[in-house]
Amino acid sequence: MGRTVGQAAGEHDGRPVPLHRHDVVVVGSANADLVVQVGRHPAPGETVLGSDLAVHPGGKGANQAVAAARLGARVALLGRVGTDGHGRLLRESLRRDGVDLSHLHDTPAASGVAMIAVGPRGDNSIIVAPGANSLLSEDDVRGAAPLLRSAPIVSLQLEIPMPAVLAAARLARRAVLNLSPATPVPDELLALCDPLVVNEHEAALVLGGMGDAAQQAKALLALGPRSVVITLGADGAVTAEDGAVQPVPSPRVAPVDTTGAGDAFAGALAWRLARGDALADAAAFAARVGAATVRRPGAQNSYPTLAEVETL
Ligand code: ADP
Repeated sequence: MGRTVGQAAGEHDGRPVPLHRHDVVVVGSANADLVVQVGRHPAPGETVLGSDLAVHPGGKGANQAVAAARLGARVALLGRVGTDGHGRLLRESLRRDGVDLSHLHDTPAASGVAMIAVGPRGDNSIIVAPGANSLLSEDDVRGAAPLLRSAPIVSLQLEIPMPAVLAAARLARRAVLNLSPATPVPDELLALCDPLVVNEHEAALVLGGMGDAAQQAKALLALGPRSVVITLGADGAVTAEDGAVQPVPSPRVAPVDTTGAGDAFAGALAWRLARGDALADAAAFAARVGAATVRRPGAQNSYPTLAEVETL
């Protein structure tokens, strides 16, 4: 990595622009999560009655941004929300956590929505309607080039169009990609990841389901990213770089709800990498954030402050 956080100012279009005002720039999605508890999931053609509707701020990009900001990171979110009630809810929740929204564009479309049915054993079925997220373009990303180039870390996931993800990775000084939802990605994007972050299911999907975590990490590294992190739920994570694989333990906790744990992990990882941590140290910190997250219900609602993480 180049300069450290909070250093020098530079010039853009003749105007002074403070460099490193942000630790992390997240380029990604914001969705309203519409959650209903059901006794059982409906079969095709069937109607079931559920609980009252609960509406929560979500989306992988917004979740990562909030996770990092709540820990104390200076975060900007580049994305699109609709000019509807959900868009206002999403903006408000991000603003409360101090996320810079100057690159979150209002869009004349419906905001992204995730329709989530939660069964009696916590088994989710989810339908995502991407809405405004699907309108985030390569030009939107290129228009934010000074912002992306100035941040030590650009954090990416795959709930926005691939051309926008690729454009952001090309501009980033260092790109962290959470390959979620698991989707085929171009080799050029893989080669720009440092690290590529996947959970064990995503790793199995990408690799066609082979081996233990250490073998999977090496196999993923062979696909081209500069480094790899595989998250393993209660078992923590493994990191891989330069051919060396390192296990990262997670603190033992009593899990209540694992929703959004992977996003919290990715947001925390991005922040620690931006601060200059080595990959294994950043992953160890992120595993503690993930563990803190699963002790409470919800996604963003469950994300910890730095003080809470330090008690784990
Ligand atoms: P995802 O949410 O993408 O499926 P994981 O389930 O691997 O991701 O969780 C991400 C991180 O959260 C893990 O690496 C771990 O640190 C933490 N975590 C998740 N579940 C638990 C658990 N039951 N106990 C402790 N930590 C957990």
